[in-house]
Amino acid sequence: MEKTLFEKIADGEIPADIVYQDPQCVAFRDISPVAPQHVLLVPRKPIPSLSDAGAEDAALLGHLMLTASLIAEQLGLSGQGYRVVANTGVAAGQTVPHLHFHILGGRTLEWPPG
Ligand code: AMP
Repeated sequence: MEKTLFEKIADGEIPADIVYQDPQCVAFRDISPVAPQHVLLVPRKPIPSLSDAGAEDAALLGHLMLTASLIAEQLGLSGQGYRVVANTGVAAGQTVPHLHFHILGGRTLEWPPG
């Protein structure tokens, strides 16, 4: 199967501004940021969306959440607050079919989201 865009970034085949990586995941700055700090955290495993994650992915999902917290701290967002979002499916506006978490911060974020 053809690699997803985010697999290609994780494998270094497409350049990105990487802020964190480990054997399970990679985080890089979003190419079209919607906040002063906007990082995408993706597992190296090409799970299409959160809906496609299974029980076998429980440890990976836990690792991703803890890593999101670590990255937020690295970006200096822990004190002021930040948001972690996984757009899932068409109605939520997911455009890249590879599970990813947006880490957003650096400004006040509205609620509810649009
Ligand atoms: P989503 O709409 O939730 O699927 O998010 C996909 C995100 O990927 C969008 O915020 C895009 O701006 C971002 N994006 C698309 N291509 C790239 C790229 N080559 N490098 C970094 N971010 C990208």
